[in-house]
Amino acid sequence: MSRDPKYDILFEPVQIGPVVSKNRFYQVPHCNGLGHSRPRAEAANRRIKAEGGWGVVCTQEVEIHPSSEYTPSFEGRLWDDRDIPAHRLMTDAVHEHGALAGIELAYNASHAVNLYSRIAPMSPSAHVVDNKYPIQARAMTRKDIRNLRQWHVDAARHSKAAGYDIIYVYVGHNLSILQHFLKPQYNQRSDEYGGSLENRARLIREILIDTKEAVGDDCAVAIRFAVDELRGPDGLQAECEGRDVIGMLAELPDLWDVNISAWDNDSATARFEPMEGFQEPYTAFVKSLTSKPVVGVGRFTSADAMVSQIKRGVLDLIGAARPSIADPFLPGKIDEGRLEDIRECIGCNICVAQDMVSGPIRCTQNPTQGEEWKRDWHPESIETAASDDAVLVVGAGPAGLECAMQLANRGYPVTLAEAGDSLGGRVTLESQLPGLASYARVRDYRESQLTAKTNVQIYKGNKLSAEDILELEIPHVIIATGSSWRTDGVGRQHAFKIEGIDSVKVLTADDILAGSEAQGRVLIYDDDHYYMGGTIAELCRQQGLEVCLLTPDSKVSSWTENTLEQEKIQARLLSLGVEIIVSHEISNLSIGVAKLANVYDENQNREVEFDSLILLTSRQSNDDVYQALLEHEDRFKTLENIGDCKAPGTVAAAVYDGHLSARNLESTIDYYEPLFRREMPGLD
Ligand code: ADP
Ligand code: SF4
Repeated sequence: MSRDPKYDILFEPVQIGPVVSKNRFYQVPHCNGLGHSRPRAEAANRRIKAEGGWGVVCTQEVEIHPSSEYTPSFEGRLWDDRDIPAHRLMTDAVHEHGALAGIELAYNASHAVNLYSRIAPMSPSAHVVDNKYPIQARAMTRKDIRNLRQWHVDAARHSKAAGYDIIYVYVGHNLSILQHFLKPQYNQRSDEYGGSLENRARLIREILIDTKEAVGDDCAVAIRFAVDELRGPDGLQAECEGRDVIGMLAELPDLWDVNISAWDNDSATARFEPMEGFQEPYTAFVKSLTSKPVVGVGRFTSADAMVSQIKRGVLDLIGAARPSIADPFLPGKIDEGRLEDIRECIGCNICVAQDMVSGPIRCTQNPTQGEEWKRDWHPESIETAASDDAVLVVGAGPAGLECAMQLANRGYPVTLAEAGDSLGGRVTLESQLPGLASYARVRDYRESQLTAKTNVQIYKGNKLSAEDILELEIPHVIIATGSSWRTDGVGRQHAFKIEGIDSVKVLTADDILAGSEAQGRVLIYDDDHYYMGGTIAELCRQQGLEVCLLTPDSKVSSWTENTLEQEKIQARLLSLGVEIIVSHEISNLSIGVAKLANVYDENQNREVEFDSLILLTSRQSNDDVYQALLEHEDRFKTLENIGDCKAPGTVAAAVYDGHLSARNLESTIDYYEPLFRREMPGLD
């Protein structure tokens, strides 16, 4: 297949200062948790994107000095020339595929608490640090400012020596001291760096000029600039500082990489920003103020939306972090006219969550993400089948679909049996919940791949028993029959069933997703802490019900802090009129009444009344069929359970498990052997 000419515009080269991107696909800087501790994995992760067709591939934030370091996260590090060889791995890998390599030099200041270096952080003015650590940042002296300029120059020179083509000056996400200089909340200086906006932008100007003087002949100097913080007059606004700063510095950088701040706005989930190109209302003005190329983001996965951005003069380069994570080969697939093969990001922020917990990157849609070096996995290729043996996959949720698809890619004859009338399992059901429509993409991509294959037979409406499976006499059987929400209240808070539970009617997410309607006053007990409690509360409010969301935690949906959603969820629920009770567990149930125990103080125990009770505490595997088959294990070459049927978890975990199982079947490599490749510290 070849490229549709209407997408030719996306493959035009773009001059960026002294360098040229071969096309308009630009992987903006994004974290991957590999960084300085796993340089080979970092290089392999970025290499795959260059191979997939991105014209520019950037690092994550890269520390330039130990006085602003990100322990316990593993971002990039370029403190001195000893760090250059690690970066060389990445730039060489990216250059091999004809892409430009960009580096985001970052001085994080009062967001970095220096757990490793133990140096007191600095800020434009004395300030509490951002992440509730009980320490404060000290005010920078003029000498500190001169030092910072020098550190940035040194890092730029080292970046050039490491082979980077684009060097960033970072002014975004409320994670950069240069953005803090702009903000009166951080900058109350009375010298030439404080006061007027021109003064507050002085250091940005100086560092841009320093960087250009240091490396500008050979490297492009980019600025990553947050035009708006979505905090109205309490933050930077596109119509005020955003416009003015761009006006002041318009022609100084070689490239404007613009977005909105903070990270929760820039990487908004599909639940809160469902539309592709959602940043356009904030960033569309930038091109009118500068002749330099502009890159912006907005979870772009559709080639038509990208073309529209270019043709309407909104952007010159299509920026992407998450779409490049979900499908590193997105540009290549557009180029080859294979749009149906694009694995679209679902906007769930599991990738972000990994960074928030200081873990290496993973992705719901792309199970090979972060495994490129560690397991030598490639998102577009897989070992061919070792035999012509047939494989049966039972259950077509995320785990079963991924497993069947990859087995089919390997060339095995695959039979996929699904009890329901549609494929997708939990993602088909959950995508009906408010804000989760994009989760259906997990199914859609895999269903379209599977139906295009001649070696796959799909049977819907086909609930198989252990006897049915034995009768089929298929040598390899993979059970992916999912999980069900518990009806007894067992979860984190309750190790045993809730007292009195047998006397009341209990609904779970499974009932609601199957169409049962709660009635009257609904009590939702959320001991799960992810998205289910909040979305079901929203659904019930949409149905006009009175809703009380109860959690033993001190805030609702607390795990979604990691997906950058928690505050937005709590605000939305409050605005919808959901009553929220935190820090209480259910101690006893009787018809219409739940006794609540305060998790801190029994003197504050209380009661609430309900007409319907929805429990979201934990799930149990649907593994009856698997357990029954284990009795006959010797009749199979392979018998295993995967995904939620093995251990209930995230959709990402189920997809990964399905992928792992497909890779492992009859493989020369035992992928279940836990000693995967790991990077050892050098003992120099
Ligand atoms: P996971 O996330 O592990 O993929 P899901 O719960 O999303 O799990 O999907 C499990 C799928 O398995 C569901 O679509 C369900 O209808 C299907 N299923 C469950 N039991 C059987 C069975 N005995 N035969 C065929 N399909 C089944
Ligand atoms: Fe997109 Fe989710 Fe993958 Fe992140 S984890 S890239 S948000 S699909």
